[in-house]
Amino acid sequence: MAHVEPAHLVELALGNAAPGGELADALLHVEQCEHCRDELRVMTRVVTAARTAQLVDLPAAPPEHVWQQISRNLTPEPTPPRPPAGPLTPGKRKLLTALALAALAALAAASAAAARRCRRDCP
Ligand SMILES: [Zn+2]
Repeated sequence: MAHVEPAHLVELALGNAAPGGELADALLHVEQCEHCRDELRVMTRVVTAARTAQLVDLPAAPPEHVWQQISRNLTPEPTPPRPPAGPLTPGKRKLLTALALAALAALAAASAAAARRCRRDCP
């Protein structure tokens, strides 16, 4: 014999069984089956607790710091800043000096060429 469907037990616990209705067979089964009687007893307790619950019985909203921690945990970690370049080694210093001198020389040559062109073409 199959036990009563949980949905029917819920209907019985809610008191929705009408005499001669579709739950009549479920009621007959519950009368004869200890397992279903226990299930119905548990569901009836849940229904009673739900119907008698007061607003103070409801769980309170978690404090703000809980939401902040959840938000932090769900937010990806920011990319850490790149570490600063290491100290200048003598080799790096010479290379940078050479590059800077080359750039200055190129700038000076371009300025001299512009000055010659200006002397020649400018009024
Ligand atoms: Zn049963």
